[in-house]
Amino acid sequence: MAKMTTQDYIAREDKYGAHNYHPIPVVLTKGKGVYVWDVEGKRYFDFLSAYSAVNQGHCHPYIIKALTKQAKRLTLTSRAFYSDALGEYEEYITRYFGYDKVLPMNSGAEADETALKLCRKWAYKVKGIKENEAKIVVCENNFHGRTITIVSMSTDPDSYGDYGPFTPGFIKIPYNDIAALEKALEDPNVAGFLVEPIQGEAGVYVPDEGYLKKAYELCKAKNVLFIADEVQTGLGRTGKKLCCDHEGVRPDILILGKALSGGVMPISAVLADDPIMLTIKPGEHGSTFGGNPLACKVAIAALEVIEKEKLAENAARLGEIFRSELKKIKSDMIEVVRGKGLLNAVVIKPKNGKEAWDVCLALKENGLLAKPTHQHIIRFAPPLVITEKQLREAIDIIVKTFELFK
Ligand code: PLP
Repeated sequence: MAKMTTQDYIAREDKYGAHNYHPIPVVLTKGKGVYVWDVEGKRYFDFLSAYSAVNQGHCHPYIIKALTKQAKRLTLTSRAFYSDALGEYEEYITRYFGYDKVLPMNSGAEADETALKLCRKWAYKVKGIKENEAKIVVCENNFHGRTITIVSMSTDPDSYGDYGPFTPGFIKIPYNDIAALEKALEDPNVAGFLVEPIQGEAGVYVPDEGYLKKAYELCKAKNVLFIADEVQTGLGRTGKKLCCDHEGVRPDILILGKALSGGVMPISAVLADDPIMLTIKPGEHGSTFGGNPLACKVAIAALEVIEKEKLAENAARLGEIFRSELKKIKSDMIEVVRGKGLLNAVVIKPKNGKEAWDVCLALKENGLLAKPTHQHIIRFAPPLVITEKQLREAIDIIVKTFELFK
């Protein structure tokens, strides 16, 4: 049989798979550290890191070792029974982040759903809001996932269009707008404020310094839970363990996902203290796979790597270099360079009909993979294990690519 080409692989996905994505036309078959390889044998820098799920680099040997060791022993018990791995993980992650308890889930969206349920439960059981009256404040241009309830919070028509009727109980306010939050919090039925410390999918919108801290203080004053979705910004990505750490804010409910597994399998988690977490009783929430022994061992290993390899520190240092070098590029297609740590974006001004997508195609030709978000923004988020030498090589590729559009 003839060897399959890139086009063959793409045609097969197109024929048999739902068309809910529009990938860059590259077919990957292997990954190691900051690199991925396509089926033709070409190597690329991965500057998306699976939307920040691969902070520890592709196929990190320490995480893969934990995965394969546990895979041969016990993978899934369901929560109908105890396992010898779950408690070890729960103790590890709660100490790591300084919370009383963790509720383990799988995808980021599930963890966000869990946080919403937890917030509503707390509203009725603790805060004393009347049944079915609780409200949660969210931000415009948010991205928290794809479930019906989560898209009910969205202001992006691509996310919510034709999926109604929607879940009620959300108040949408502009992001990075303290006055709007203050006004929304006047409603006594508000139980929580759900926020991304940096809006990732929206295009790496970094709020003003002090926004998170001020928002947290306003929530405290009104007995409202401050809920941080750190699915994309957490785990070293922005140069601290959590993005909220930049402002010394400790969320009442912390949502994690993506890099909690180093990209090996879907693992997410919600962390909170007892007065919040213990409002959910046996049988009131759960997941067949959440907290499975395989996930527990993988998550411990993934967190250990972040700590041992000082990935947050590396992200902070290299992020500064990345932004300062990109700001030096003289191109009328670059409108803005922004970001924190190794979560960065370039806003593209279309030129001669060429857009962010065309820049990403040219980057691919030159050996670097990135993906546009919202048509005119390119996110640059390499694995945090990247070295300065590798980063400078990648910057050279980006510089060279923008020169092609002169
Ligand atoms: N929350 C944030 C901030 C995200 O960026 C994402 C995914 O991009 C999610 C939640 C959803 O995670 P998942 O795709 O694992 O459901």
